[in-house]
Amino acid sequence: MSDSVDLHLAADRSATIASRADVVVVGGGPAGVCAAVAAARQGASVVLLERYSYLGGLASGGMVLVLDDMCSGSEITVMGLCAEYIDRMQREGLAVVPPQHERTATPEHYRKWARWGLFDLYARTKPPPVCYAATFDPDSWKRVSTEMVREAGVETRLHSWFSRAIVEDDRIRGVVCETKSGRQAIMGDVVIDASGDLDVLASAGAPFAHEQYLVTNVFRLGGVDTEEADRFQQEEPEAFARIDGQARKIIGGSWEFWWLKTPLPGIVWCNCPHLTGIDGLDVTDMTRAEYETRRRADQLVEYVKQNLPGFQKCFVVDFAPQLGVRQTRLLQGEYVVTKEDITNRRWFADSVARGRDYFTPYRALQPKGLVNALAAGRHYSATSTAQKISREIPPCMAMGEAAGVAASMALESEANVKNVDIERLRRRLRELGAIPGDKPTASTAASELNNKFDLQT
Ligand SMILES: Cc1cc2nc3c(=O)[nH]c(=O)nc-3n(C[C@H](O)[C@H](O)[C@H](O)COP(=O)(O)OP(=O)(O)OC[C@H]3O[C@@H](n4cnc5c(N)ncnc54)[C@H](O)[C@@H]3O)c2cc1C
Repeated sequence: MSDSVDLHLAADRSATIASRADVVVVGGGPAGVCAAVAAARQGASVVLLERYSYLGGLASGGMVLVLDDMCSGSEITVMGLCAEYIDRMQREGLAVVPPQHERTATPEHYRKWARWGLFDLYARTKPPPVCYAATFDPDSWKRVSTEMVREAGVETRLHSWFSRAIVEDDRIRGVVCETKSGRQAIMGDVVIDASGDLDVLASAGAPFAHEQYLVTNVFRLGGVDTEEADRFQQEEPEAFARIDGQARKIIGGSWEFWWLKTPLPGIVWCNCPHLTGIDGLDVTDMTRAEYETRRRADQLVEYVKQNLPGFQKCFVVDFAPQLGVRQTRLLQGEYVVTKEDITNRRWFADSVARGRDYFTPYRALQPKGLVNALAAGRHYSATSTAQKISREIPPCMAMGEAAGVAASMALESEANVKNVDIERLRRRLRELGAIPGDKPTASTAASELNNKFDLQT
């Protein structure tokens, strides 16, 4: 193996080959870690690259602290590595899931769990049912991610910012990263893009759409007396509505519950302020978003300290180190999932992952024109409107797990992801405890059709 690779650029822009593996995964978020762990557990050598100093992506650095979209009514629809994460975090006492007997639509259970965000966000009925969902601590997510990649034997390379793909004909031969050690190339047989922004496949020339959606700089407040806040909301609903309404006006963009409880006592998660018109690939826009959201959050804190019972002694614990970008580039792959596919619960014979009640075909992970590359996570092949309602953390993890297993299978046949036997892939995923998605029966499909599709997270 030579120690440098020609990037077809000026001589000073060559890169040192720092590693090589059967499978290279770019992006250590929920999809990327699942892809890396799944491929390594199948026996592949795996390198996982991450630009930041920790794993977890939006689930840790973006401080997105609720796992939803993983059940349909009482049916759990995302398991596998996602369930393993929840289990490991619960053992640390740092994930909270409503017990099965409290997953009901009674006012009592809704009152108990609404402020955790652990209810069916899409239900039309009032109160919406409490459901299988989890809230967790971001540091626990980082720890569990690190444990899982280490145990699986994945070579993790942090502080490695992907910059370009090395492409020959219809294959990505390797990826180039900018690092403090200089420019490095990591060579691989199969490459999985889990960057969330499709950095790798876009660089490799795969077709994509450039879209945008809400951007949020989430933060946490400490010193909150959540019992007093609950009491105020229940016992003085009119005063609560007035003060809460003013708080939301200051934020200028939030869901109904702008603060939610977390596993840490007195610390609440604020999934706000939301901004529109921000391109998550534009440094000027992103910088503006950072400052504007902080300005609003500071004003909000001043207001609630003065006015909202339970928040008199609150303080900012932290802003997420990573800007909350929901949508940028979307792959336009072998199949493009549409909003109608999601809302009609369209089943695909090559379904390899599920969300709450929708299915992801293997073709939606495959770029056109490249035979050894896959996408997994929020940049999967979908229209903008479809992605908005199908990009939660659990389905992204399910896509990652499917991509990792598919990559390991592709190694058996010329590292060509298009040669993977779908039935074998679906069977293997089931054996691993994952849910590739079975064809719904007529009765389950009909009973679910009265849900709505407003966007809530
Ligand atoms: C504010 C907000 C609230 C949300 N609320 C919820 C919610 O309540 N529940 C829910 O389930 N989902 C929610 N979501 C959606 C969910 O967080 C994401 O869709 C999900 O995390 C996507 O996972 P991913 O692995 O595809 O991408 P990401 O989490 O974005 O991970 C991508 C990873 O790739 C790395 N990376 C990117 N570019 C490079 C590069 N060039 N080189 C190296 N590494 C790179 C990143 O650092 C990151 O670690 C929310 C999202 C946001 C922004």
